[in-house]
Amino acid sequence: MNSATHPLNVFKYCPRCGSSDFPVSGPRSFRCGNCGLNYYINAAAAVAALIFDETGKLLLTRRAVDPDRGKLDLPGGFVDPGETAEQAVCRELKEELGIEVKKLTFFTSHANEYLFSGLTVFTTDLAFRAEAVSLDNLCACDDISGFEWVDPREVDLSEIPAPSIRFFVEEACK
Ligand SMILES: [Zn+2]
Repeated sequence: MNSATHPLNVFKYCPRCGSSDFPVSGPRSFRCGNCGLNYYINAAAAVAALIFDETGKLLLTRRAVDPDRGKLDLPGGFVDPGETAEQAVCRELKEELGIEVKKLTFFTSHANEYLFSGLTVFTTDLAFRAEAVSLDNLCACDDISGFEWVDPREVDLSEIPAPSIRFFVEEACK
């Protein structure tokens, strides 16, 4: 609870009954004094895909949406409720790039937090190595504006704003 944008410092009212008797009850929770709602600030699961071509170049995307519009990213996004991480990778690769996944292998994970709508958002980012059925006819769709193939050892890491994505790219070079 170290920043003015942390949800524990921002939320003032119970989202169920609207009571202002909504004190912080733990390191990441509130308990409503009126209706008894226990409300937790949890990290959301998100996924990222590492796809290499036959020359060892890594597929990076350009973000079309905030936060960090125009910056470099790995393909991926939030895991939907009820979805597995593997399903989320396959869905995101299909939505963003038109890629059908042939094989997925879990790589590593990293915690991330960022500012969005004036609120700190916490995520647990899960990285997978992905193999595509085909890398022909990729399209930049959904929430990306473009994509590029780069030598992961030559990426300008300052162009990748998310610490977890920087970590995945660095780890992929080892
Ligand atoms: Zn309440």
